[in-house]
Amino acid sequence: MTGKNVSSIDSKNFVLYYQPKIDTKTNKVKSCEALIRLKVDGKIIPPSLFIPQAEKDGSIVDIDRWVFERVAQDSRYISMKSHEDINISFNVSGRHLSNGYLVSNLERVFSFKELFNSSFTVELTETSLIENKGKALKTIEQIKEMGFKLAIDDFGTAYASLSYLKDFPVDTLKIDKTFIDEIHKNNKVLYIVDGLIYLSRRLNLKTVAEGVEELEQVEILYKEGCDEIQGYYYSKPLPLDDFITFVNAVNKTKKGAKFILWGDKYSTGSYALDANNMILARILNNIYETLKDPVQRKKDYILHYTEFVEKYLEASYNSIASYLKRCNYRDQVTPLERFMEIKERLEQFKNNISDVNERNLYNLFNILKEYFEYVVEEDKKIVANCFG
Ligand code: C2E
Ligand code: CA
Ligand code: CA
Repeated sequence: MTGKNVSSIDSKNFVLYYQPKIDTKTNKVKSCEALIRLKVDGKIIPPSLFIPQAEKDGSIVDIDRWVFERVAQDSRYISMKSHEDINISFNVSGRHLSNGYLVSNLERVFSFKELFNSSFTVELTETSLIENKGKALKTIEQIKEMGFKLAIDDFGTAYASLSYLKDFPVDTLKIDKTFIDEIHKNNKVLYIVDGLIYLSRRLNLKTVAEGVEELEQVEILYKEGCDEIQGYYYSKPLPLDDFITFVNAVNKTKKGAKFILWGDKYSTGSYALDANNMILARILNNIYETLKDPVQRKKDYILHYTEFVEKYLEASYNSIASYLKRCNYRDQVTPLERFMEIKERLEQFKNNISDVNERNLYNLFNILKEYFEYVVEEDKKIVANCFG
């Protein structure tokens, strides 16, 4: 045991959020990161306000153990509700890596047969690996033998020698936000990230970009072949049920008739804008397919998804708007106007839900399809004016 029991650290006040990562080949969610928060009087407290203290007094180990249990339970719930095999990564503190209990603490939670440990990734920071090098290696080998994947977090921040990539059985490099912040502003940083992605590919490692917020960053990361994108650009960390909605809205592709048939005519010439539009098309298709089914055509469900579309669009338009400002794009239609227009259309749509039926569904939905095609045309203008 580690001393204190998890229940002794008021674990009922913790919640785990999940941040989706978008796979750049499919534009779907294949994995996510579990991130802890503290709930006090209904307010959500970020980890920066309690993890440092927990690191100091050692209670971080109990927090980690609480996270292991929560993640194991939530993973069953996620696969039940989404029917998707989502890899969940979780953070393990350096203190836990060095105290000799990490393997047994993981074993206690994850040795059940019905959980496949390969659907979990243990994230360890570069710093904690370096600080514990001798001890860490053996522990990490055991974790790998249990089937977990291993990611190096905050990669590039600890001034470590690259040689430990050869010593540690790593699966994933998470390129730190400090690089991503500069990638579109500083050529040296661009070349470093480019080199890291190239090196990772040669070493058979997956690359994840962290803290991606801007359209230019997304554009570069797709172009350079980064495997996964994590950041506010696509989504903030979400409460469990919102995360599942995100997965269900973004990932599902029903075979057969599609309302919006993705094809070359929708290509804008930008990786980032195409990825956005492909995801939007998939979300709209999913809503449409759901509405076709009278059993599923429930008001709550529709409202839930239309609200989701609004949130998704709001996030992407914020970043498009800030991009257009930077490129001095002048046009009659501002992204805000575009966003207001879809909001209005979604409002109309919601108001008409009560009489959605097989017959009028198509007409009702055409409003959204028209909007989608209009967005694509606007995006083509952006590419013509701002890119290159
Ligand atoms: P981290 O492991 O590097 O996690 C990534 C942090 O970046 C998260 O902050 C996430 O919300 C934030 N982030 C993601 N995308 C963006 C973006 O586009 N822009 C910006 N500005 N931030 C973004 P969060 O959740 O506040 O966590 C902070 C740190 O606390 C984590 O950094 C990790 O070191 C630690 N932490 C979080 N949860 C746990 C946990 O369950 N166990 C342990 N041991 N540490 C945790
Ligand atoms: Ca992390
Ligand atoms: Ca990180």
